[in-house]
Amino acid sequence: MAMSEATKQVEIRQFPCLDDNFGVLVHVPATGGTIAFDVPDAEPYLAELERAGWTLTDILITHHHWDHVQGLGALKAATGARVTGPALSRDKIAEMDAVVADGDTITAGGLAFQALGTPGHTLDQISWWAPEAHFAHTGDTLFALGCGRVFEGDMAMMWASMDKLARLLPGDTRIYCGHEYTLANARFAVTVDPDNAALAKRAKTVEGLRERNQPTLPTTMEDELATSPFLRAGDPGIRKTLGMMDASDAEVFAEIRRRKDSF
Ligand code: ZN
Ligand code: FE
Repeated sequence: MAMSEATKQVEIRQFPCLDDNFGVLVHVPATGGTIAFDVPDAEPYLAELERAGWTLTDILITHHHWDHVQGLGALKAATGARVTGPALSRDKIAEMDAVVADGDTITAGGLAFQALGTPGHTLDQISWWAPEAHFAHTGDTLFALGCGRVFEGDMAMMWASMDKLARLLPGDTRIYCGHEYTLANARFAVTVDPDNAALAKRAKTVEGLRERNQPTLPTTMEDELATSPFLRAGDPGIRKTLGMMDASDAEVFAEIRRRKDSF
């Protein structure tokens, strides 16, 4: 097997934190490393580490919002893990040992990660991509069937970030994110893309999962490209529904995001 193309085996655990945040841990058996993504609350992370028998080595942060860093101090103090996050939030997140900007590559837990700048929701937002593990954590940028609200950036910036993820992440990438918002996203998505059979089918699946209190994440880029209106601004069916046949992709995305804001 060509080592450069080798897939790094990882074990992934996802669990609920706070009301609708996710906790995510990635363990790399080959190195013994374990990486946490954001820390909404330290307690569920410590409990999951204990259950799995994993020792936390790294914490990667996506952005500065309180529901992503609230438990960071406590988790770092309890584990001694190394914290890496966005350089743009150097002054906001006191616990960081190292910072990254768009395009940087780092090693965490023995796994190579690319830091993809994906601003819009916040300006500092980093999506973490481990190509060898077919894994990405997109924070509050890309959600299943959705995207984060545009707070600090603008609509064109958020569209560029979504489009960047669509272009960079291979279809089989397992995508984790900050929140379980998929049911509300699915109910909205069918209003702007009513004739999409793959979306209708997925919306049913999502309803069923949430009825049983099961998570709808991870997703894959392949599924998102087929069903998320927030990635499908170029789709003729969506454009027809919105009456925006001649608009730019960024304009169509902005209209979809605005409609979701008041849905
Ligand atoms: Zn956020
Ligand atoms: Fe959040």
